[in-house]
Amino acid sequence: MTARVIDGKAVARRVREEVAAGVAELVAAGGTAPGLATVLVGDDPASEVYVRNKRRLSVEAGMRDLHRHLPADAGQETVAALVDEVAADPAVSGILLQLPLPAHLDADALVARIPAAKDVDGLTTDNAGLLARGRPGLRPCTPAGVMALLDEYEVPLAGAEAVVVGRSVLVGRPMAQLLLARNATVTICHSRTRDLAEVCRRADVLVVAAGIPGLVGADAVKPGAVVVDVGIHRGEDGLRGDVDHDPVAEVAGALTPVPGGVGPMTIAMLLANTLAAARAQQGIEQGVEQEVPREVPA
Ligand code: NAP
Repeated sequence: MTARVIDGKAVARRVREEVAAGVAELVAAGGTAPGLATVLVGDDPASEVYVRNKRRLSVEAGMRDLHRHLPADAGQETVAALVDEVAADPAVSGILLQLPLPAHLDADALVARIPAAKDVDGLTTDNAGLLARGRPGLRPCTPAGVMALLDEYEVPLAGAEAVVVGRSVLVGRPMAQLLLARNATVTICHSRTRDLAEVCRRADVLVVAAGIPGLVGADAVKPGAVVVDVGIHRGEDGLRGDVDHDPVAEVAGALTPVPGGVGPMTIAMLLANTLAAARAQQGIEQGVEQEVPREVPA
């Protein structure tokens, strides 16, 4: 079997077009264009690339680029003051604090200063709590992007065995919650999981976000399973993921490529969240709940 390719690039392009249309509608309805404040501290080259892409695509979608940059040696209070400033600015619909921050900064304390309504990365405790309670809120972009891909490819989730490898606050945990909200039977694996391959082989839907190149091989995949590779690793031969792509493609029913799978969806969902936040703040048309991935109550 050769797995169907889940084309994240194409789906992300469509989501961005829908967001652009939504921005135009918001403005036509008398609202103001959403403003995205990306906050970058320091000069980490990978973070600079990510932030540049987020800014470029937000502008392409008709949003205002309200980017802020601080030097690598900015102290906790300086960064906190900047977060407070953008939080209070009515032109700012969404705040994205680019992680990781320089090691001397307390990232959790800074994320906690972002108001839930502007938390377009979905990382505050308030938004994590809303997700855990199955209530509407801004969802973390990467797992929201995975859900959008699964929906686009009409992957059945209710009653399906879903296995998530990784339990990070950014990806694994919210991923599991989103799958649970769609009535999948969810198992979460982590570094202490006893027999990873055996657990993964149960999965109809396998989402891998462990940060270890090629961790999941063909022996860990049930024939016909849908496999989503969240990992990104830059090697000498270009980018690769947490899934050993070629052998897994022989077993899986569908598989996301790296690059061109989950990565483009993350930015697309950031834009969708920023539009949803702007709409909710301006009280025009739909609120946040209409923009987050569809969830069927248990
Ligand atoms: P992270 O914070 O390092 O978390 C990794 C998780 O994987 C942890 O929960 C860890 O378990 C688990 N793990 C580590 N080794 C394992 C093993 N041998 N077996 C099973 N589980 C294992 O990473 P993250 O932020 O979630 O990111 C994961 C990957 O996704 C990275 O490659 C990152 O670059 C990529 N990523 C991509 C996007 C995108 O847009 N495509 C966005 C975000 C992240 P413990 O909890 O026990 O330590």
